[in-house]
Amino acid sequence: MNSIVIVGAGECGGRAALSLRERGYTGAVTLIGAEDHPPYERPPLSKDGIVGNVDPRFVAGLGDYTAKQIDLRLSASVTRLDRASRVVELDDGTLVPYTKLLLATGARARSLPGSEVNSPRILSLRTHADALRIRQHLTPGSRLAILGGGFIGLELAASARRLGATVVLLEGLPRILSRGVPAEIAAAVAARHSAEGVEIICSARVETLRATDEDIRLTLSDGGVIEADLFVVGIGSLPNVELAAEAGLAIDNGIAVDRHLQTSDQDIWAAGDCCSFPLAHYGDRRVRLESWRSAQEHALIAAANLLGASDTITAVPWFWSDQFDLTLQVAGLSTGSTRAVRRDLGNGAFIIFEMDDAGLLLAASGIGPGNAVARDIRLAEMLIASGRSIDAQALASPDVRLKALLAA
Ligand SMILES: Cc1cc2nc3c(=O)[nH]c(=O)nc-3n(C[C@H](O)[C@H](O)[C@H](O)COP(=O)(O)OP(=O)(O)OC[C@H]3O[C@@H](n4cnc5c(N)ncnc54)[C@H](O)[C@@H]3O)c2cc1C
Repeated sequence: MNSIVIVGAGECGGRAALSLRERGYTGAVTLIGAEDHPPYERPPLSKDGIVGNVDPRFVAGLGDYTAKQIDLRLSASVTRLDRASRVVELDDGTLVPYTKLLLATGARARSLPGSEVNSPRILSLRTHADALRIRQHLTPGSRLAILGGGFIGLELAASARRLGATVVLLEGLPRILSRGVPAEIAAAVAARHSAEGVEIICSARVETLRATDEDIRLTLSDGGVIEADLFVVGIGSLPNVELAAEAGLAIDNGIAVDRHLQTSDQDIWAAGDCCSFPLAHYGDRRVRLESWRSAQEHALIAAANLLGASDTITAVPWFWSDQFDLTLQVAGLSTGSTRAVRRDLGNGAFIIFEMDDAGLLLAASGIGPGNAVARDIRLAEMLIASGRSIDAQALASPDVRLKALLAA
């Protein structure tokens, strides 16, 4: 009998399991997750999940998995993949056979290199349990230090300010958000954080880190000293590839898959944050995305292909971040291209378009209050997907509607 096993009960694994049933598959589906919750959304963990309702926002209710006869095994880690016998082994020794396997193992927070300090006051943010631990420390007047000026660190900084904590954010590079958005967008984000009372220190080097039961003390290479009640390390993530690597699957900055999400084993697929794949529209450049929408798209493609289809990844990457009342959206891959064009949308909102020398649009990064940039970023995504050369002056002019460029 056919048996599909999915390792990793996150955004991607959960949605893939549900999609198998929605596509009419009636064989066995086993969804195995190391966490003790059914699949839940991670984006709120640094946003409303810190400031407001701390309950997890589930992808589906527990009853949905039962009704769909999905065998959901929680608090269960897959420790071994035996491709020859087509079986995965759980941490309690249980063997689960598969005919087709999906690896949706996601990523984990990168830990502080070289740090031997193990303290409940030094945390990272990846899971609901992490968010709860961080939340406990954030009270009016409490002191938060964050290492890393990426999206998660900045979102957490904004949330902590809303809770009345004082926040110092340390970034090792000369500017925040150096991976993934143009400098002008990063400057707008930095200005807003400063206005809200977040102290951002760029080019920061932590020389020493001392943790006691009472607090954390950091010394910086320039002699600066930071004392905090909580130190959150937000320096990126690492894909969970160990299971695949030990089983001999190809790895390349993630579990390497083709455009159908198939690994180097024809009965095993990988999807979501754990995999790297060739990106159409960018000359099949291999990328690994950490994006909520991409994890969802992968889930649907993987489910179709587990059932014999050969769907391909065609979507243009898209990502968003909420900080204070600002929403930042990025469509495409921001590569720091030298041809950058700014389009002002009013009310402080603007978009930076990045183009190549032939006028091909590579990325559009926008920032503004609320939904100010959403419609134009959506159209930019379609312009990128169209693969046509676009006039830079037209992109810069708010009087030229992007819809008209798309129709031209
Ligand atoms: C704090 C935070 C905020 C974010 N905000 C945004 C945002 O604003 N916008 C955006 O686009 N994206 C955002 N993201 C990224 C987005 O949440 C991820 O891209 C998405 O969750 C990826 O889904 P996934 O299923 O591939 O991986 P994950 O969500 O990481 O799920 C993988 C699951 O697999 C489990 N697992 C791993 N190995 C095993 C094993 N061997 N056995 C059993 N289970 C295993 C893990 O425990 C985990 O539960 C955010 C992420 C975080 C952490």
